[in-house]
Amino acid sequence: MPNIDRITASVPDVARQTSEKRRTVHYNQIQGTCMVFPKSKLGFVFFNAIILFFLATRVYPVAAAESDPVDQLCRRLGQHIRGFQEGQCRRDGLMVSTHTTAQGRAMLSRDFAPLGNGHPPRVLLLGGIHGDELSAAVIAFQWLEKLASDHDPHFQWRVLPCVDLDGVFAQPSRRTNSAGVDLNRNFPTPDWSQRANEYWVKTTHRDPRRYPGLKPASEPETRWIIDQIEEFKPDAVVSIHAPYGLLDFDGPRDPPRRLGYLSLQRLGAYPGSLGDYAGLYLKLSVITIELPQSGQAPTPAQSNRIWADLLRWLDKQHVGEPRQAFQHPSDPAERHLIQTFQVGAEDSGPRR
Ligand SMILES: [Zn+2]
Repeated sequence: MPNIDRITASVPDVARQTSEKRRTVHYNQIQGTCMVFPKSKLGFVFFNAIILFFLATRVYPVAAAESDPVDQLCRRLGQHIRGFQEGQCRRDGLMVSTHTTAQGRAMLSRDFAPLGNGHPPRVLLLGGIHGDELSAAVIAFQWLEKLASDHDPHFQWRVLPCVDLDGVFAQPSRRTNSAGVDLNRNFPTPDWSQRANEYWVKTTHRDPRRYPGLKPASEPETRWIIDQIEEFKPDAVVSIHAPYGLLDFDGPRDPPRRLGYLSLQRLGAYPGSLGDYAGLYLKLSVITIELPQSGQAPTPAQSNRIWADLLRWLDKQHVGEPRQAFQHPSDPAERHLIQTFQVGAEDSGPRR
C-alpha cells in the first residue's frame, strides 16, 4: 500500500497483556488515522483486502457512473429540463461516439436497424442542433423511445437526440455552441465562403446568435453530423427545432404539406444551413420541424400526430410501396403495427 507508512512500535498496554504477541502500528499519513492490528503477513493481507473491498464497493461505482457519458448526459438533462425522463434516457441504448464537443462531451446516438431484409430507406433524426431549443431535444428523445418500443419496420433510423450539448448545458442554454457558432449556418455548401458571412453581416447585422463561424465545418458538432451523413447515407434528414411553429422542407421531392398541427411554410435555405447543405447540395429530403415553443414540448397527442404523419410522408415518398409489401406476416405484433398504419392512412386522407 503506497499511501500507508508503516511504523513499528510496541504498544505498552497491549504488550503487557499479551507479551507473546507484538503489535504493529500503522499510521495512515493521508487520512491521519491510527490503526492497531496483528503484525502477521496473513493478517496484514486480510486487512488490506477488506479496505480495498470497501473502497471498490463504495467509491468505484460512483466514479464509474460519473465517467459514463450516457449517465452523465441523462443525469444532467434530468437536472436541466423539468420532466425529462432521466431513467428512461439511461435505458435508451445510446451509443457513445468518438467525437466530442469542444468542451469534451461525448456525442451520443442510437441506431435502429430494419427488421426485414432488403435496403429500406434510411432516416437521420436530429434534435437539439440549437442548444436553447430544449423542446426539440425532448421530442427527439420521445421519438427515439417510440422507435425502441414500437420499431417501425420500413426504415432504418439513426437518431442524434441532442447535438449541441455544450449549448444545452450553458447557463443559460444558448442557441450557438461553446465557440459561439450557429451550427445550422456552419455546413460546407460549395458557396459558403461567398454567402454565409455576407448573409450574416448584411442580413442579420452580425447577430451573434446566427454567426456562421470562420470557415465551413469549423465546429466538431457540424463535422459529426457530416460524418453521420457520409457514413449512414440517409435518404431523408429530419431536424427538430423551435419556436416558429411550422414545417419547412428542402430537397427535390414533394414536401409534406402538414405534419400534425404544423403546416408547411417554406422559409428558403439559409446559407450554410443543414437544409442548404443536405437538401439543396446533396439532394436529400430535409424536413425541418419547428415546434411552437422552445421551453415546452408538444402534448403526447400532438407529438404522436406529427410522428404518424411524418412516417406516412416518408413511406409515400421514400418507400413507394403500400405497407402490406412488408414481409413479416408470422409475427402478430408486427401485423398489428402494419394494420394500425393502414387504418391511420385511410382515416386521415390527403392533406393538400
Ligand atoms: Zn433552431
